[in-house]
Amino acid sequence: MTESAPASAPRVAVILLAGGIGSRAGFRQPKQLEPLGGKPVLRWSLDAFAAHPAISLGVLVANDDVMTAAGSLPEGWILADPGAERQQSVANALAALTGESDDARVLIHDAARPGLTAHVIDRLLAALDTAEAAIPTLPVPDTLVEQAHDEAGDVVDRSVLARVQTPQAFRLGTLRQAHGEAIEAAATDDAQLVRRLGVPVATIAGDARLHKLTYAEDMAILSGLLGTNAMRTAVGMGYDVHRLVVAKPLWIGGIEIAHSHGLEGHSDADVALHAITDAILGALADGDIGDHFPPSDPQWRGAASHRFLAFAGERVAARGGRIDHVDLTIIAEAPKIGPHRPAIRDRIAEILAIPVGRVSVKATTTERLGFTGRREGIAAQAVATLSIPEI
Ligand code: MG
Repeated sequence: MTESAPASAPRVAVILLAGGIGSRAGFRQPKQLEPLGGKPVLRWSLDAFAAHPAISLGVLVANDDVMTAAGSLPEGWILADPGAERQQSVANALAALTGESDDARVLIHDAARPGLTAHVIDRLLAALDTAEAAIPTLPVPDTLVEQAHDEAGDVVDRSVLARVQTPQAFRLGTLRQAHGEAIEAAATDDAQLVRRLGVPVATIAGDARLHKLTYAEDMAILSGLLGTNAMRTAVGMGYDVHRLVVAKPLWIGGIEIAHSHGLEGHSDADVALHAITDAILGALADGDIGDHFPPSDPQWRGAASHRFLAFAGERVAARGGRIDHVDLTIIAEAPKIGPHRPAIRDRIAEILAIPVGRVSVKATTTERLGFTGRREGIAAQAVATLSIPEI
């Protein structure tokens, strides 16, 4: 008995079926061992049950190899051998629960449904206050038709149909009786056996997250449903300086600005785009602009810097990430950047293919101090904030 369960509450046992879940095409191993969000599929259900305060004990129906691969059993759990059929597996688990009274509750769950929540367990146990058995169901959203020989037949009334999920919940005495009288009659689930006794089975609202892992493509669906395709925030900073010289065009932030001087460099020397490029590469921990576009390589002589920035954006996309924000500060005594800020923002957003609302452009002087104050050069700083997939 757990601390949070009142002394009068019936004990709750779990039967977790993880044996006889064969591997099908597309899986490299038994599918209950496929990795999902950093742990085996089977482990999701084990952890969900172990975390629920009402549950006293569990029986994992699995062979030793599966158990070894899945990790240690939670406290209060024991192992039972799988049977040739599902019904035999449940019978083996029931044999391991002989010490429990008929008034105990039992939840039978399929380990191929990793998206179990405490809310579903709560709804099932609440239903057993008045019912002998309860199952989670979902409505059928699609139109259903009869089909034979690749030809559609009559529409089936889906309003009277429901999809059945697990866990299925029972009063233990009723489940024992159903299994005792079902030696010959194979059923695909235990609720059917209980109904054969003439005992009503209540339904509770199921949960889309209890999607069953059947085919390889179900892994992507489960990743989305369970939020395992999580992103992490990565921040990078970039800094660049170029010298101001006469008789050169001035490119800043991807636009040409009329001025007495321009910036000197191997490429077009766009100090602002270089800083942003380095900030993005920094957030990716992917080297710097010089690694990808060496100044020693003649092909980048006079190159337009939007190519460098677009390349950095493509590196983000290739990693499955996105650019959440770019904040640029241009440090120059002259020319005045303010009038050009809207055009610079638009151009950076265009090069990176992100909304302009994610691009900030600021400018400052250094009060005539230092090399920027003496108008010998222009500096730029940038911070890039990315979301990139957890690895
Ligand atoms: Mg540079």
